Amino acid sequence: MAYRTRVVERHDGTIDGSVAVAIDDPRQGHRMGVALPVEHDRWIVTLGSFHGDPAPTDPASFEDAARTLPAPELAAVLACGDAQGTVQRYRMPTSRRRHVERAGRVAPGFVVLGDAVCSVNPVYGQGMTSAALQALALGECVGRFGPASDRLPATFYRRAARVVDVPWRIAAGGDFADPRTSGAKPVGTDLTNRFLERVFRACHSSPAVARQTQRVQNLLDPPSSLLRPDRLLRILLADRRARAAERRSAVGALSRGPALAPPESVDRHAAELHRRMVLR
Ligand SMILES: Cc1cc2nc3c(=O)[nH]c(=O)nc-3n(C[C@H](O)[C@H](O)[C@H](O)COP(=O)(O)OP(=O)(O)OC[C@H]3O[C@@H](n4cnc5c(N)ncnc54)[C@H](O)[C@@H]3O)c2cc1C
Repeated sequence: MAYRTRVVERHDGTIDGSVAVAIDDPRQGHRMGVALPVEHDRWIVTLGSFHGDPAPTDPASFEDAARTLPAPELAAVLACGDAQGTVQRYRMPTSRRRHVERAGRVAPGFVVLGDAVCSVNPVYGQGMTSAALQALALGECVGRFGPASDRLPATFYRRAARVVDVPWRIAAGGDFADPRTSGAKPVGTDLTNRFLERVFRACHSSPAVARQTQRVQNLLDPPSSLLRPDRLLRILLADRRARAAERRSAVGALSRGPALAPPESVDRHAAELHRRMVLR
């Protein structure tokens, strides 16, 4: 996973709302983008790429790359605000989980937590919440057993494992939606991803589904909350509506004739993505 990030001035009315997110479909492309409002009226705009091909760091090409995302808002944010500083780079090689709960005897008075137990693709935005939930669990274990107890590490690690199970399943499992992802695939990942594909499509047209999905992604509610019968029905109906809309727009695009050529400065992959988006 590679990030390229730039800060720009924020002007009222550039885009509606306080958070803009545009995420590519990992099965069809491998770029995503996010713009978040930060202090002193600025946006922090990040373009991410999976499995190589990071966005360029020269400002013009960075903006070109933003224009290849499936939604225009990020490019609009970049076009409207004066850039501050250079484009910053960040790279994360892999998600990693250490099954500390399976360790045999561990020394009392010493535990690890947070990213040391489980670090996942930051694009899912769950690492801090996971670390905080582990810290809460640790506090309860310390309160119950005392900080130097023999029983503390094993009990805490069992609780930490339950905490990280959810982000690990969502993040590491979600990354397997891209066929280039390698590694030990958690059991049931393909089934979960097929369901999540429907959920994410449903989010496009149902604010209620989008809200609940956010709650699950932010670890406020368990994934099973999406399976409540009324929510499941809403997901399936919204997914059906979204698919029908996609089919209609594909037919419309074909009947309008050949797709427009992408801008010349856009790279080869982005050109391919652009072509697919126009045809979708
Ligand atoms: C680019 C990026 C974006 C992210 N976005 C989000 C997000 O939106 N939401 C979210 O929830 N999570 C996000 N995360 C994940 C989140 O930052 C981590 O999961 C979280 O910070 C983990 O907390 P931690 O305390 O385990 O580790 P860290 O926050 O990494 O803290 C470890 C600390 O130990 C220090 N340290 C390291 N080695 C030594 C040493 N030898 N001696 C002394 N000190 C040392 C480090 O300097 C650091 O301060 C993101 C991560 C990255 C990289």
